[in-house]
Amino acid sequence: MSGLDRHGLDATHDAALRSWVASANDPLTDFPLQNLPLGRFRRRGSDEPLRAGVAIGEAVLDLRLACEAGSWSPEVSPLIELLARGELNAFIALGAAARRTLRSVLSLALREGSGSERWLQPCLVPQAQAEMALPCEVGDYTDFFTGIHHATAVGKLFRPDQPLLPNYEWVPIGYHGRSSSLQVSGQDFRRPRGQYKTDAAVPVFGPCQRLDYELELGAIVGPGNALGEPIPMARAEQHLAGLVLLNDWSARDVQAWEYQPLGPFLAKNFATTLSPWIVTMEALQPFRRPFERAADRPQPLPHLDGEANRAQGAIDIALEVWLQTPAMRERGDAAERLMQSNFRDAYWTLAQLVAHHSSNGCNLRPGDLLGSGTQSGPLPAQGGSLLELTRGGREPITLPNGETRRFLQDGDSVALRAFCERAGQRRIGFGECVATVLAPRS
Ligand code: CA
Repeated sequence: MSGLDRHGLDATHDAALRSWVASANDPLTDFPLQNLPLGRFRRRGSDEPLRAGVAIGEAVLDLRLACEAGSWSPEVSPLIELLARGELNAFIALGAAARRTLRSVLSLALREGSGSERWLQPCLVPQAQAEMALPCEVGDYTDFFTGIHHATAVGKLFRPDQPLLPNYEWVPIGYHGRSSSLQVSGQDFRRPRGQYKTDAAVPVFGPCQRLDYELELGAIVGPGNALGEPIPMARAEQHLAGLVLLNDWSARDVQAWEYQPLGPFLAKNFATTLSPWIVTMEALQPFRRPFERAADRPQPLPHLDGEANRAQGAIDIALEVWLQTPAMRERGDAAERLMQSNFRDAYWTLAQLVAHHSSNGCNLRPGDLLGSGTQSGPLPAQGGSLLELTRGGREPITLPNGETRRFLQDGDSVALRAFCERAGQRRIGFGECVATVLAPRS
């Protein structure tokens, strides 16, 4: 299916499109007809197998029901059947052409005036009745460090004389994380215990005292590459299916004690929260921006450079962190926004992460997750973690109700949000990535 203009846009991106699902036409919905993100769910309270769905307004289009209910064209039928079985990994392994086919067909079927309304209407499940799962099976999880403002601010806390290490400007820094402790938004977790150092001679083992969040995006790998075959920049984005929000919960006291010489370990792998909807690369296309590197800074080496990357390697995604304390919850107060930043400030692009990750022949597989690293903005108030907002815990933030925070307390809920806005385009969002810190196991 073609019909892409020179900006990579097609009829599905038309900002004027409206859906017969009324809630999808709300100007503030994250899930208008132009978004159509993919996720996995089951009906709340049931133990049925996971099935794939597409978020539309306040509903989920249940692709299992849609598969049974309708006569889909031969072109899209095998795709819907795959998704009806909940096989999201197999679907995203097919790449952009399959995603575009599905997007075009669903855009037509959910459009105002579509004859499909009659038989698709019963296939809608209110999101409130959908129990979401991780959007796909994640095999391997890598976390990068593309937020240069985060890297600099955190570096300053540890190394005032050399905040940014010399490799940072040349190589996308990352580490291999752990996929077993990935959780979907809404799953709470206990404050971890760990070993950390105080002023005493002997380290302590106990509940983390400096629990933090990290505001990140996660890229989901679509088609993989064979071991030994690097992915060149020109094809790097063909290996990505889309993006989710990612909260890389961090035990700062444990991290400070354990991170040298091999990097993050138990400070990071007790819980990592993902939003449930994969916002596809197609949905993000209207929000692409040029990738720019200041002329006086090192330019990317040739294997991390490319024409398409320079023209539109960055993506304009507004990112936010919201906090709700137990006291706020008890009084019925809504969460407070702590900061806002933008993914276009990332030092490395998604294509560069893929090209770098595979540059030694490392194989990526469908469903692998690449974390962006904490996305802080250039200003101190735009820190993407409490570590930054409180200057390492030295300067607590004060909330509107008078409460203060250096790090997270038990009962605190942290929600990440993301959305894309641009004149002439329909606003799209990512949904929520939220979890609550529970008391440590006694
Ligand atoms: Ca991180």
